[in-house]
Amino acid sequence: MELFDLSGRVAVVTGGNGGIGLGMAKGLAGAGAAVVVAARNAEKSAAAVAALEGLGARSSFAPLDVADPPSCRAMVDRVLDRYGRLDILVNNAGMSIRKPPESYELGEWRQVIDTNLNGVFVLCQAAYAPMKRQGGGKIVNIGSMMSIFGGAYAAPYSTSKGGIVQLSKSLATAWAKDNIQVNAVLPGWIDTELTRNARDQVAGLNERVLARTPAGRWGVPEDLSGIAVFLASAASDFVTGAAIPVDGGYASEF
Ligand code: NDP
Repeated sequence: MELFDLSGRVAVVTGGNGGIGLGMAKGLAGAGAAVVVAARNAEKSAAAVAALEGLGARSSFAPLDVADPPSCRAMVDRVLDRYGRLDILVNNAGMSIRKPPESYELGEWRQVIDTNLNGVFVLCQAAYAPMKRQGGGKIVNIGSMMSIFGGAYAAPYSTSKGGIVQLSKSLATAWAKDNIQVNAVLPGWIDTELTRNARDQVAGLNERVLARTPAGRWGVPEDLSGIAVFLASAASDFVTGAAIPVDGGYASEF
């Protein structure tokens, strides 16, 4: 369908080499976009690029440490050099350090905020000029249920993810005049490496997630493919500044 067609578009997915990022990258590739996988792990990224090429997409790896501003800017420059344009930026890379708030070293706090929030801001800034020059663009920022709820063992993570929503709204209002739409996606509990670690560390987590999620299951990365295509395509041209849960109903239940 033309509304959702991404042929000729160039997308960057940070952390696109696994988990939710790869789920979104597959959606974009299936809709016709060329997809750049931007992350640190070259081997894992090569496997993701091969999977995306297997779907018939152009794809490549661009090294990125999102916590390092020069690396963010160099990645965008590299994409522009190689493809000549940047249409879609999916800010998905993220991490957490689990502890009670009183136990964080300041360096640990900074590491989470640098990765999940500051890097997103730097990448959005770097993407702005080329998107404006092209006449528009799409930015999709990944929040969390912790954009809404607090987390006793996730103070910097929930702070960063709350910030993602407000950053997305601010950029959306500033850049609407440039035809750049900026939205946030708030995934519920999705089965990935990140949450598999949490499941190993936190007794009873699996049962709590299943009981608390109205859909009665964990999400899978492919559950995020459709929202990625929607927010990257012409179908969402009048949608900006939204924070959309993709959570099997988690955030809706009292
Ligand atoms: P994964 O741990 O599976 O993937 C995280 C990705 O981020 C990896 O591809 C990793 O690649 C990349 N990454 C981490 N740090 C950096 C960095 N400094 N620079 C560049 N890339 C980095 O996690 P998920 O797929 O579960 O999470 C993806 C996003 O979704 C995150 O923002 C997370 O907070 C969010 N989320 C996840 C939920 C879930 O239930 N899984 C729920 C709500 C939100 P590499 O190591 O190669 O750099």
